[in-house]
Amino acid sequence: MKKQFAIIGLGRFGSSISKELYHMGHEVFAIDIDEKKVNAVKDYATSTYVGNGTDEALLTNIGIRNFDHVIVAIGDDIQASILTTLHVKDFDVPNVWVKAQNDYHHKVLEKIGADRIFHPEKEMGSRIAAYLTSDTVLDY
Ligand code: ATP
Repeated sequence: MKKQFAIIGLGRFGSSISKELYHMGHEVFAIDIDEKKVNAVKDYATSTYVGNGTDEALLTNIGIRNFDHVIVAIGDDIQASILTTLHVKDFDVPNVWVKAQNDYHHKVLEKIGADRIFHPEKEMGSRIAAYLTSDTVLDY
C-alpha cells in the first residue's frame, strides 16, 4: 500500500531514504534548509521544500500532522534535530524516526518521544562485521 513520508534533512542518509521510498512507489515530501540539497532530490520526491525543520509555521503549512511517517535526518546540528523532533511529535505524528549523532542525542530523542532512533554508521558497521564473519561469505 502506498504510504506518505516526510523526510527532513537531505544529507546522504535522508536523500538515500528518499530515493528508495520513491522508487518503491511511496509519496515522499522532502525538506531541507539548503536549496542545493533539495534540488538534488527533485527527481526522487513527490514534493520538495526549502525550509527549516525547526520552523513550526513551515511544518503547519506542509500539513505535517497528516503524515503517518516523518523521518528527521538532520545530522550535525543536534539542537535543530531535537527541536524539529519535538515539534513533529507535538503535531501527533505517530511514527517519528530520527537519526542520532551520539548517545546523548539518543537519550534526549528518547525522552521527547522519538519512535525509532537510528545510528546509521554504527548500525552499518555492526551489519558489515556480522556479514564478514558469517559462514555464507565466500572466501576467495
Ligand atoms: P549525512 O550523513 O546524512 O550526509 P550528516 O550527519 O553529515 O548527514 P548534515 O549534513 O549536517 O549531517 O545534515 C543533514 C542534512 O540536514 C543537510 O542536508 C542539512 O542541510 C540538513 N539540515 C540541517 N539543519 C536543518 C534544519 N534546521 N532544517 C532542515 N534541514 C536541515
